[in-house]
Amino acid sequence: MSKRSNSLFQRAQKRIPGGVNSPVRAFRSVGGTPRFIRSGRGSRIVDVDGVSYIDYVGSWGPLILGHGAPAVREALRAQIALGTSFGAPTENEVLLAEMIGEAFPSMEQVRLVNSGTEASMSAIRLARAFTGRSRILKFDGCYHGHADSLMVKAGSGVATLGLPDSPGIPPEESALTTSVPFNDIDTVHTVLNRYRSEVAAVIVEPVAGNMGTVLPAGGFLQKLRKLTREHGTLLMFDEVITGFRIAYGGAQALYRVKPDLACLGKIIGGGLPVGAYGGNRAIMQWVAPQGAVYQAGTLSGNPLAVAAGIATLKQLKKPGTYKKLESLTAFLVRGLHEAAEAAECPVQINRVGSMFTVFFTGEPVTDFRSARTSDTRRFGQFFHAMLERGIYLAPSQFEACFVSLAHTQRDLLATIRAAQEAFRIAAAAS
Ligand SMILES: *Cc1c(COP(=O)(O)O)cnc(C)c1O
Repeated sequence: MSKRSNSLFQRAQKRIPGGVNSPVRAFRSVGGTPRFIRSGRGSRIVDVDGVSYIDYVGSWGPLILGHGAPAVREALRAQIALGTSFGAPTENEVLLAEMIGEAFPSMEQVRLVNSGTEASMSAIRLARAFTGRSRILKFDGCYHGHADSLMVKAGSGVATLGLPDSPGIPPEESALTTSVPFNDIDTVHTVLNRYRSEVAAVIVEPVAGNMGTVLPAGGFLQKLRKLTREHGTLLMFDEVITGFRIAYGGAQALYRVKPDLACLGKIIGGGLPVGAYGGNRAIMQWVAPQGAVYQAGTLSGNPLAVAAGIATLKQLKKPGTYKKLESLTAFLVRGLHEAAEAAECPVQINRVGSMFTVFFTGEPVTDFRSARTSDTRRFGQFFHAMLERGIYLAPSQFEACFVSLAHTQRDLLATIRAAQEAFRIAAAAS
């Protein structure tokens, strides 16, 4: 079992730190050896030992159509024939910017970059320039990529590995970032008052995905909107996960709150590297070459990535898409709930649309503190029991799982059946 994955992991660790190019892939928090993946089609991935899994990672969010979606493959094939990069403007960049602007009225103008990290990093620079202020307010357990100023009480791999904020970030830099508990509007209020006219932006994952899925409390986003406006602070939604995931127009459409700046990534690249940040014209005019805020990229707006993104968005725009994702995921989560209950394994399942997390705790999960009441040892047992039964979940308690349009009712039933046993194993473990 996993013979080739094991030997590749040995080889990888000699040449690549930890054997991986992004930390959570290494399975550190759940133990064992990561599976090296050879191929993916529809809802399934196949590892180098020929084992097939129903996949709920979806490349960490981008693959909302599933693996190897025909429309995306066709778009990529056509673009490869034309060329892969020109370092000059192309028609498709304009089309993608238009499609994003139509879906996200807050993003009148957008700048395409290569990753979510670049998007939030660049948007922070822009917010600081536009407001003439330096301080950033973020939320504990939210992750906005690995730029220095945002690596304070960050989620995702930092939470998974239980790391303190990263060494290598000058204290002067992180001192300009204040992190407060998610869903705690009173503390936001206090901090904005304390640093009167110093806070350039409040950045938030409107539905958190990087401490596991955590929903905004009723009115939280609306109150953030009101408070930031009162303080002349920009409100920035990091919709790198939620954009085109929980609704075509993301969290800002679902919760009807219009931020000043928004970041996208993941889905808009259809599985290729892309990010985007945008806002209204008055703010975006500050970006070079129109304005003085410098930001650039050799491969920004890359033709292949843009083609895959456009093909993905065109599929998502078809009627019934989000209804289907909603009903598939609701069915799955109901089955998981029943399985956990039958196994007497206390869990909380948080879900919005097709993103969800099973937390191994009896306490409702509303912020990073409550997320961390989860029994991560139990999660590890559950994760491996599922993996052995052909179900590939994110190898960390503090991540979201994703259902794609390629998942079938049969996939979901197989997943629920596996979970019935896996929850029993997890419940017995501690
Ligand atoms: C994934 C993610 C990022 C970082 O995107 P990368 O493409 O990994 O750099 C930023 N913000 C959120 C909310 C994310 O989920």
